[in-house]
Amino acid sequence: MPKTAVEPSRTGVAPWPAEAAARYIANGYWEGRSLGTHLADAARKTPDAICLVDGQTRISFGELLERADGAAARMRELGIGPDDRVVVQLPNCWEHVVISVACLRLGALPVWALPQHRMHELSGVVAHAEARAIVVPDTYKGFDHQALAHEVVGLVPSAEHVFVTGTDIRDGSVDLLDLLAPAENPGELAAAFDAAAPAGDAIAMFLLSGGTTGLPKLVARTHNDLAYMIKRAIELCEYGPNTVYMATLPLGHGFPNTGPGVIGALLAGGRVVIASSPAPELALALIEQEGVTTTSAVPAIVQRWMRHHEEHPGTDLSSLDVVQVGAARLSAEDAEEIGPKLGCRLQQVFGMGEGLLCVTRLDDPPEIVNHTQGRPISEDDELRVIDEEGRPVPPGEPGVLLVRGPYTPRSYYRSPEIDARSFVDDGWYHTGDIVRQTPEGYLIITGREKDLINRGGEKISAEEVETFALQLDGVTHAAAVAMPDRELGEQVCLFVVVTEGTTVELADVWSVMIAAEAAKFKLPARLVTIDALPLTPIGKVDKKALRADIARTGG
Ligand code: AMP
Repeated sequence: MPKTAVEPSRTGVAPWPAEAAARYIANGYWEGRSLGTHLADAARKTPDAICLVDGQTRISFGELLERADGAAARMRELGIGPDDRVVVQLPNCWEHVVISVACLRLGALPVWALPQHRMHELSGVVAHAEARAIVVPDTYKGFDHQALAHEVVGLVPSAEHVFVTGTDIRDGSVDLLDLLAPAENPGELAAAFDAAAPAGDAIAMFLLSGGTTGLPKLVARTHNDLAYMIKRAIELCEYGPNTVYMATLPLGHGFPNTGPGVIGALLAGGRVVIASSPAPELALALIEQEGVTTTSAVPAIVQRWMRHHEEHPGTDLSSLDVVQVGAARLSAEDAEEIGPKLGCRLQQVFGMGEGLLCVTRLDDPPEIVNHTQGRPISEDDELRVIDEEGRPVPPGEPGVLLVRGPYTPRSYYRSPEIDARSFVDDGWYHTGDIVRQTPEGYLIITGREKDLINRGGEKISAEEVETFALQLDGVTHAAAVAMPDRELGEQVCLFVVVTEGTTVELADVWSVMIAAEAAKFKLPARLVTIDALPLTPIGKVDKKALRADIARTGG
């Protein structure tokens, strides 16, 4: 028996209005089939073709389906059923892909967390998702994930199971390798899961919104909307059976999984090559060894690849056709260098867990590919660019981007207070990104209104860092802002005001955050003590002035 009852995932999610849903169905976008069935159908077309490579492990489509269905059946025996949530906190490895497909076959919802998440974030995600199971490595980069997962199970009423990869499987854990073993009766199981597949409008998974805090924002994505988005991205990225997609970005993110990424490559009958890290020595060697045709990266990573390839030429990158770059701002100078230096085409990507996906087209001229972040993938993506009063800006002027469309849900999962700010005027998602739109409909990301720091693609909530700083004795005010960083694009700079006679060091802030078991990538890189925080005329902290201060003092 499960520890506690879990609310169905559909409750607390605003559905698309009936008129919009009918239009998306009529236009052929929403097919009414589960992502698990789409994947199984793709796998059945070429069962012997290798679809997943991780080091020495090479898995065919047939084996993938047998393992996924075997795992789905074993999860069912453990009491995990359709609509139950499974938090997957694995580093990049083949098991990440197979357990995710297994969940989709069962109708359980995978929830991808980042390996850097610690108690602060993981307990929040597991609790908010009301997850039944947590999937972790035994240890990773010196951290005992198995112990953390059991601690979270002890704290969160819904959580019951810990699935572990590695050699140290402790009492009370389930060995993930056993769970993922191929089914003994694959044909029978496949037929049963096909027959019991969730409806297209059921929730397929929860994606974490960028900047996951102790109170995470979850985006409930349906089978219909995700399958449409990924299939449309497959078309625009020209994925097919010859595609070899290398996953280097952390699989905890949507971009390498769904943009079209891993799931896209599998749906297209192609192959996924897992890179355990984006380190250039490894990633570039894998391109040569595995004949990688396409991959995705954040700007900081692609810069490292270019530098490494220049300093250590000789790796044969001739198979590489397309590199997608997104999640953070790519400079036009870097954009121009990617093609010549890596011998491939660039595709800029602007996307978000909340839905909207924009890409430059593969046949776009260089001025578009190098200078814009793409345009929406769907004809039915609706965009609005507004000024501070909420009025549309004149064409070509910067403003905040709002979006609605066939794969952009109308709310977060059970977060009515956040929804009130983030979904405005009848379900328009307020992205908080400041953009300019070209006459051809391409977007140029010029800034950000939302209070986040984008550290090499990892989003950090300013408010969360400030709340930690305010826990220190003597800190009366705190403001976290983005500080330019050559490698990562941005780092966290924390401004504090302290009471007279107090001094606060960066190390003190780190201690509070480490004691609270927050992810380390959120630690500020610089601390500045000032007399008072500058305020705007309406009395808000003037973060623009703080950023200008950093620019003046050289960061
Ligand atoms: P996430 O949900 O973690 O994917 O974060 C989405 C956010 O990342 C967007 O709202 C943007 O702020 C930022 N972002 C994504 N792609 C780009 C890009 N190509 N350039 C600049 N910012 C981006």
